[in-house]
Amino acid sequence: MSATAEALSNKLKSIIRDVPDFPKPGIVFKDITPLLADHAAFTELVQAFAEAYRGAGVTKVLGIEARGFLLAAPIAMALGAGIVPVRKKGKLPYKTVAASYALEYGTDTLEMHEDAVKAGEKVLVVDDVLATGGTAAAVCDLVEKLGGKVAGVAMLIELEFLNGRSKLAGRDIHSLIKY
Ligand code: AMP
Repeated sequence: MSATAEALSNKLKSIIRDVPDFPKPGIVFKDITPLLADHAAFTELVQAFAEAYRGAGVTKVLGIEARGFLLAAPIAMALGAGIVPVRKKGKLPYKTVAASYALEYGTDTLEMHEDAVKAGEKVLVVDDVLATGGTAAAVCDLVEKLGGKVAGVAMLIELEFLNGRSKLAGRDIHSLIKY
């Protein structure tokens, strides 16, 4: 990691709030709301992602419900790309494509509008936390179902001990903060 990237990572880490035992015992929730409320730090993180993918030909930035929306929108503006929301089942009004992924107990389903990504389009997938990688892997599958190309997976935080990268083999993953 470069000195600049490390300085940014340390700054962001100092602003993100750990909330132990949320939403259930044993989980340390990474609360990014203090970071969203900090104009200077939020601007820096958006610029860091935009720099990482500038020149990659990205035409759509895909945000994963719900905190992913807050990151995807300004990154898309900075890259001159469109924004695509990926939502939990049943929330999108038009025709959708769906992908299911395993949770600790049972499965969950994410959906995207079927015309949100065109064949051959380069897509950046964005979320706040990469944990086990199940969510991001399902979203990459959705992009590819529509014939899109995953140009990268941009995650603000990567929980390395959960080895989410193993579910995203071969993908270009860029995380600003690692724990
Ligand atoms: P996963 O599919 O396990 O990679 O989980 C990723 C999704 O769960 C993301 O949408 C995150 O927002 C959320 N998530 C998982 N672990 C945490 C955590 N410790 N703090 C905050 N959000 C989390």
